[in-house]
Amino acid sequence: MTVNLLDFDLEGLAAFCDRLGEKRFRATQLFRWIHQKGARQFDDMSDLAKSLRDKLKVNANVVGLPILSQHISTDGTIKWLFDVGAGDAVETVFIPEDDRGTLCISSQAGCAVGCRFCSTGHQGFSRNLTTGEIISQLWFAEHFLRTHMGKSERVISNVVMMGMGEPLQNYSALLPALRVMLDDHAYGLSRRRVTVSTSGVVPMMDRLGKDCPVALAVSLHAPDDILRDNLVPLNRKYPIAELMEACNRYLEFAPRDFITFEYCMLDGVNDTPAHAAALVNLVQRSPRTRVNCKFNLIPFNPFPASGLLRSPQVRVLEFARILSEAGIVTTVRKTRGDDIDAACGQLAGDVKDRTGIQARISKQRTVMLKPV
Ligand code: SAH
Ligand code: SF4
Repeated sequence: MTVNLLDFDLEGLAAFCDRLGEKRFRATQLFRWIHQKGARQFDDMSDLAKSLRDKLKVNANVVGLPILSQHISTDGTIKWLFDVGAGDAVETVFIPEDDRGTLCISSQAGCAVGCRFCSTGHQGFSRNLTTGEIISQLWFAEHFLRTHMGKSERVISNVVMMGMGEPLQNYSALLPALRVMLDDHAYGLSRRRVTVSTSGVVPMMDRLGKDCPVALAVSLHAPDDILRDNLVPLNRKYPIAELMEACNRYLEFAPRDFITFEYCMLDGVNDTPAHAAALVNLVQRSPRTRVNCKFNLIPFNPFPASGLLRSPQVRVLEFARILSEAGIVTTVRKTRGDDIDAACGQLAGDVKDRTGIQARISKQRTVMLKPV
C-alpha cells in the first residue's frame, strides 16, 4: 500500500525508512525535502540515491489535500477550503501581520462539542482529520505563500489550532502533527509560537502538558457553570473548577507562564460588568480556581442560525477595562478577513450534519441574560 509521507513525524518516517531497509539519516533528508523545501516528487530530491527514490516511488507519495477554493481578503487574509472527501471540507486561514504570519489550522471536519455561538459546532461532527491532513494545511500554505510572495525563507511564524474542530478530541492525530511543526528539520517553530485552543477537554490537557507542551488557549466564554453549560456543552463533563485546576497543572509544563482565555463577547449573554467582575473573582480571588492568565476578548462573529448578536464595542471596551484594572492583561481580538468569512467561528467548510447536532442545538432554549 502506498503511504503518504505527510502522515509521519520524524520518528514515524524513520520507522518507515527502517521498514524499507534504509538508514535513519535518510528519514531526516526526506523530512527536510518535504517540509523545508516543499518537494512532492521523489525525483526532485537530488541527494537521495536513485535506488531509494525508486523504492519510494513504489511505496510512498507526498500528497496534500485537494483545494476547493481560495479567497483573499482586502486586509491580506487568505482562506482556503480543502476537500477531505465524502462531501466534507475544512478551512485554513492565513493572517499576515507586520511582525508575524499566523496560520489557523483545522483539526476535524465539523465538531462534536456543539458550542452555541460557533458555526462549526452547529454543523455537527463528521470525522477526525489524519495527521497528514492536519500537517498538509501548513505544508501547502507555507510553500504556496513562499512562491506567491517570492520568498525563500519562512513565511508562517505562528500556528494556532483554532480552525474547525476540537483539537484535543483528535489527540492521536494532533500529537505527531505538532511534532512536525516543532521539528527543526521541518518547520522549526518554537513551542511558544504553536497554540492549541481547546474548549476544555481536561484529561487531554494533562496529556498535552506531558507529551508536547505548546502554548495553550482555553475557550472560557463564561464565569460560571450555569452559563458555560449552556454555551459550551462540554462544561457539563468538565466544569469550570476542574478546568481551572487542569490549567494550573498545564502551567507546570507550558512554554509561557500564563494560559490565554478566549472569551467570545455575546450581546446580553456574557458581556456585562457583572460577568467581568465574576471572572476577576474566578481567576484571581477564589483559591480553588485562581490561575495565571491573560484574556483575549473575541467580538462574536454572527451567523444566522445562532440567534446571537455581537456585543456593542463600548461594552467590550468596558469589559476589557474591568479585567485590566484588576491586573489581568486583556486584549480585544481584531476581526480579520471579515469580507471572506474567515473570522473566528465563521469557518463553516461544508460538513454534512451526520449527528443531528443542528437540530439539538436549535431545540435548546436561547441563553438568557442572568445576574451573576
Ligand atoms: N475547538 C477549539 C478551537 C477551535 S474554535 C476551541 O473551541 O477552542 C477557535 C476559537 O473561536 C474558540 O475560542 C472559539 O470559542 C471561537 N469562536 C467560535 N465561534 C465563534 C464566533 N462565532 N465568533 C467568535 N469566536 C468564535
Ligand atoms: Fe467545537 Fe471549538 Fe466550535 Fe466549540 S468553539 S463547537 S469546541 S470548534
